[in-house]
Amino acid sequence: GHLPPPERVKALVDEAYGRYRSIDEGAVADYIPALAKVPRDLFGVCLVGVDGSVHEVGDAGYPFSIQSVSKPFVFALVCQAIGAEEARRKLGVNATGLPFNSVIALELNQDRTMNPMVNAGAIAATSLAPGEIADEKWRFIQDGLSRFAGRRLEVDEQIYQSEAATNLRNRGIAKLLEGYGRMYFDALEATDIYTRQCALKVTAKDLAVMGATLADGGVNPVTEERVVDASICKRVLAVLATAGLYELSGDWLYEIGLPGKSGVSGGIVTVIPGKGGLGTFAPALDEAGNSIKGQRVSKYLSERMGLNLFASK
Ligand code: GLN
Repeated sequence: GHLPPPERVKALVDEAYGRYRSIDEGAVADYIPALAKVPRDLFGVCLVGVDGSVHEVGDAGYPFSIQSVSKPFVFALVCQAIGAEEARRKLGVNATGLPFNSVIALELNQDRTMNPMVNAGAIAATSLAPGEIADEKWRFIQDGLSRFAGRRLEVDEQIYQSEAATNLRNRGIAKLLEGYGRMYFDALEATDIYTRQCALKVTAKDLAVMGATLADGGVNPVTEERVVDASICKRVLAVLATAGLYELSGDWLYEIGLPGKSGVSGGIVTVIPGKGGLGTFAPALDEAGNSIKGQRVSKYLSERMGLNLFASK
């Protein structure tokens, strides 16, 4: 199967944008002080097909920090580096059903693994990046995410500094995991690399290209570069489907029927396996930290284009 023909895709993407543009619900994240300054009315949508076609509208070229949307891509790179089985053993792949920064989740699981889509498991995934020292691990992550995007991604220093100065909870989570033997590098250094990773600047278009790379079995459809193997993509998408929107992952899958990942800066990437990637950006969030407009657009396009993976026709 393919996406609908280009002119139909363009019409639907434009329609979705127009439909939800004036919604003004939700709150911009402010627990990272610099995020609170991002204008709440920014709104961008981009759909990239596995054929490399690009349809974008609104603020799809506006740079914002990637935040948690980095998690599936780092997980994919780590799976590629150490193997998907080893990654599962060390990180866990079961949904917590709890908020992204839950400490309780760490206490509930027998073997103390988390999953790479919440902070604990994501910091552990970052700690597994190849390299003896923090700098090598960072370079692996920056290079890898840049290959997913098909262009060099750089850190927003203001966002990085702002989160680094206030991320005591993440440092605590990492230390707790380290105590349980589930951190694979110095906990505080891993948290710092993770914080930098979350501050990488992307656009909605970048997210769409990154998602389309996972949809395309690991080949970036724009640069045609292979970033990870197809055997890795399907594992990443499985974890995304169950845990991409934290405690609302079930609601998301129920409505949209596609793997997706949200972040507190307002980005969402949705992967349409074998077809393409959808990137949305709108900073106002629901109570779980998921972009409100992004969820609406994704639902609308999934329905109108017939993309739900569980639909029989
Ligand atoms: N950097 C943010 C944090 O660790 C990412 C969280 C998110 O996007 N949900 O808190």
